[in-house]
Amino acid sequence: MQPNTNNPGAPKATPFAATVLGSPRIGPNRELKRAVEAYWAGTLNAADLEATAAGLRRDTWASLVDAGLDSVPVNTFSYYDHVLDTAAMLGALPERVAHIDDRLDRYFAAARGNDTVAPLEMTKWFDTNYHYLVPEIAPSTTFTLDASKVVGELRDALAQGVPARPVVLGPVTFLLLSKPVGGQGPLLGRLDELLPLYLDLLRTLADEGAQWVQFDEPALVADRSDDEIAAAARVYDALTAADVRPAILVASYFGSLGGALPALAGTGVEAIGLDLVAGADSVADVPALAGKHVVAGVVDGRNVWRTDLESALGKLGTLLGSTGTVAVSTSCSLLHVPYTLAAEPALDAALRSWLAFGTEKVREVRVLATALAGRRSDVDEDFVLARAASAARGADPRLHDTAVRSRLADVLASGAVRSSADQRRTAQAERLDLPPLPTTTIGSYPQTTAIRVARAALRKGEIDDAEYVRRMRAEVADVVALQEDIGLDVLVHGEPERNDMVQYFAEQLDGFFATANGWVQSYGSRCVRPPILFGDVVRRAPMTTSWFEYAQSLTDKPVKGMLTGPVTILAWSFVRDDQALAESANQVALAIRDETIDLEAAGARIVQVDEPALRELLPLRRSEQQEYLDWSVGAFRLATSGVADTTQIHTHLCYSEFGEVIDAIAGLDADVTSIEAARSHMEVLGDLNAVGFELGVGPGVYDIHSPRVPAVDEVVGSLDEALRAVPSERLWVNPDCGLKTRGRDEVEKSLRNMVAAAAKVRAAL
Ligand code: GLN
Ligand code: ZN
Repeated sequence: MQPNTNNPGAPKATPFAATVLGSPRIGPNRELKRAVEAYWAGTLNAADLEATAAGLRRDTWASLVDAGLDSVPVNTFSYYDHVLDTAAMLGALPERVAHIDDRLDRYFAAARGNDTVAPLEMTKWFDTNYHYLVPEIAPSTTFTLDASKVVGELRDALAQGVPARPVVLGPVTFLLLSKPVGGQGPLLGRLDELLPLYLDLLRTLADEGAQWVQFDEPALVADRSDDEIAAAARVYDALTAADVRPAILVASYFGSLGGALPALAGTGVEAIGLDLVAGADSVADVPALAGKHVVAGVVDGRNVWRTDLESALGKLGTLLGSTGTVAVSTSCSLLHVPYTLAAEPALDAALRSWLAFGTEKVREVRVLATALAGRRSDVDEDFVLARAASAARGADPRLHDTAVRSRLADVLASGAVRSSADQRRTAQAERLDLPPLPTTTIGSYPQTTAIRVARAALRKGEIDDAEYVRRMRAEVADVVALQEDIGLDVLVHGEPERNDMVQYFAEQLDGFFATANGWVQSYGSRCVRPPILFGDVVRRAPMTTSWFEYAQSLTDKPVKGMLTGPVTILAWSFVRDDQALAESANQVALAIRDETIDLEAAGARIVQVDEPALRELLPLRRSEQQEYLDWSVGAFRLATSGVADTTQIHTHLCYSEFGEVIDAIAGLDADVTSIEAARSHMEVLGDLNAVGFELGVGPGVYDIHSPRVPAVDEVVGSLDEALRAVPSERLWVNPDCGLKTRGRDEVEKSLRNMVAAAAKVRAAL
């Protein structure tokens, strides 16, 4: 590495060759989840929780060292969330938890709330399925440094002989991800207050013996104003001017840095991390990188495919020409992939050879670093295997089902459009004969103990499929009877048979497979097991019709057929990397379309196709958003345009801040859209009106995220408010979201009040 001429006191850290940006932390068998939940339940004490955590951290470091990494991230562990850890480190937990003395309990209260304290909001970590807690910054927030977590983990790692590189969320991203509250203006204005804390942190880490520190700045891969980029450059100029500090790696991930790259390269930071999987920054265009250590994310940190080593090595070779030095790395933290393929004993052998989970990716990093260092012959076998796997994958017939592909082409060529909204409205009104302000629910009813017991018994082989179906039907019958009794107008079967709204479908579609142990953290202690889409999607048989038919046989009222939309199925799966997402979406859409047609034939008058993830997949860069919206809306329309005008299509979206996707929601052209609105006071209706939305809409009239039962008059108030924005002919009455996480009693009370409120408002129309 070239000496840093701006700052003679700059550290002389040696560049490393192989690393990852972060690791999974829930434990290979979800040990952390169990320990944290036991602590919450009061059955595990803090010392035992800490011991579990320390054991997991050490195991992780040891496995990275054993795998041959020469720089190992530490402080990527978290009891709940690393953004919350950063807020705690900077003294920025909300005022309302300050009275809680115990630091762990204070931390968990900010994360989850308690009887008296509301938690921080949670939102998506960029375009991934991980959720972080949104720090609240008020004018009164006084930042103070508490480096105990990172220092504790660093000391422990160094004591084990680990070449530890502390990882901390950078100040720019921290502020950009936080939410201003209490009249606080734009948060970047407070960078100057954070600077002395980060300087202090640098000194502390250097004193503790850290050679390198990694500041994560993923916010810089989204569209940023010139002012924001300039602010980032100023911060890193100031941090690198410190007289005592470790060498600084600024890590970006989830896309290209674009204009932020020359700005960062112009500062004194020693290293820059680039995502060369999701991003395409060209090092050659930035002469200032010639003096830097470039940490090249060539191994995909967020998908599960085996790396094409040859092409990765090619990218690395290109970098070498225009940078100081190069390290091989993952494109982002391995937080987003399962621990290891070794935990998948039942996996099809061909599939296994195409995949790489966490452990396998670490090996790929080391193999590439070895080859880059000129010792290719030492790792030639890995290259041979990777090449063979990729050839076998390309030739596997499951990836190219000509029948399905030509059917898809035919359907697309036929236009896949519905008649005009007016025409449909008339046809449906006649057939459905619903009262004004029809009442309904979003689909799921409480997942009772009986349901969980039955699912566990089936998994363990204690009951057979027939017994399982019998028990689930009993649940359906209960839920239908309850809805009849409450007086709802449009019923659902309650979804007792669905473990998860994506996995349920993935398990029944060819082209997907479900892992046994492929857990990844979604938020806090919640883990999900995303299915893997590896081939062409074929629906072998109807997936939901028998449940619908049974429910409809119990009532004269319309029961909604209930499906998950193509975009959501992709968003919550690991997807193919050998074809465009748009193409995969259309294949899934075709399967869902076939299901809507079967539901219609089975007597469904209404079919709901949920797309709660539509907004999640939105690209971070505006320049890519329109293309995404075009194909995602197209896939939904493909899925929903196979039915007659008389069949009413509903959709459900779980959020109310539509922002860039508002036009797309109108574009879905669903006859009825249910959305979250209770927490945002029906503002969303105005937003929909502003884009000329004229279809049916069911703004949630009460918040299902809390156990509180809304009073009748409260719901009347919501409906009155809604009616100021939407004519009664278009308004539906429903809760905010599905009811599966709620208790049976509160659901019954809430729905009775909702139905009573609808009756009251109807009478006054
Ligand atoms: N139909 C699903 C349910 O009611 C929708 C869930 C969701 O939107 N996330 O549970
Ligand atoms: Zn929802």
